[in-house]
Amino acid sequence: MVLAKPENQHVLQAFSVAGKVAAVTGGARGIGLEVSRGLAEAGAEVALIYSSSAYDADAIAASISADANGVKCRAYRSDVTDANGIAATLQEIERDFGHLDIVVANAGIVSYHNAEDYTPDQFSEIMRVNLDGAFYTAQGAARIFKKQGRGNIIFTASVSATLVNVPQKQAAYNASKAALVHLAKSLAVEWVDFCRVNCISPGFISTDMIATQPAEWNQKWYSMIPGNRFCDAYELKGAYVFCASDASSYMTGANLIIDGGYTLP
Ligand code: NDP
Repeated sequence: MVLAKPENQHVLQAFSVAGKVAAVTGGARGIGLEVSRGLAEAGAEVALIYSSSAYDADAIAASISADANGVKCRAYRSDVTDANGIAATLQEIERDFGHLDIVVANAGIVSYHNAEDYTPDQFSEIMRVNLDGAFYTAQGAARIFKKQGRGNIIFTASVSATLVNVPQKQAAYNASKAALVHLAKSLAVEWVDFCRVNCISPGFISTDMIATQPAEWNQKWYSMIPGNRFCDAYELKGAYVFCASDASSYMTGANLIIDGGYTLP
């Protein structure tokens, strides 16, 4: 088994994802939307995968395309907790675009409960989306990548995989993300001859997800982040393009932490 080795190229060329096709779960909102935008700006054709009926994902895909010089971008509705459904969606994307090179398993949810009060459904719902759903997405991708002999999987994990946010109330979320980081390492080894698998672990990113947390927690968290602010989702675009491109060709099983220094003290 040998990790794929690209030709030595000019560094800006190595960072390009032009001509590649990327699928991004949770790709129409928050971090995933900016990842979709970043990959399109860097030249990739993008399939954004969403699950909600609350907005017009086709219009979002059209605006990404318009902002990125008309690069192809299309929206696909699929629930990551449906293993057959997400695998079929990835196959549909491969058929529509002709190939599939990059899959970002980014969809995720959070909820806040005292650990002693979790119902089995509340606990397993977090696991179903954040861990099982990410695995089903990666598995669907790997079946295509194995056939092609190349591919790239990026999981959105979290600093919650590494430490416990205080105040707590996120036991299930923390456990799901810690498991995801170890899953990525396992898959990176097992699938090394046909794809790379890496995690990006953001700190506090201003999205709808952060908006659901109790407001009084924000001030406490600002004081615990050396950077003293939350991050805007667009500030993550470069990291995802790096992981998706040949610029990171020797990186697999890694967990890239982007947190304004939050996990350092
Ligand atoms: P948002 O709440 O803005 O977005 C969550 C995304 O996940 C949505 O696009 C949603 O799709 C999608 N999603 C949820 N459940 C499913 C499902 N069953 N099937 C398909 N898609 C689903 O949150 P963020 O953008 O902040 O979160 C994105 C990822 O980043 C998550 O994995 C999260 O855990 C992680 N993260 C976020 C941090 C933050 O501070 N915001 C910090 C660290 C990690 P739809 O739009 O269709 O509802």
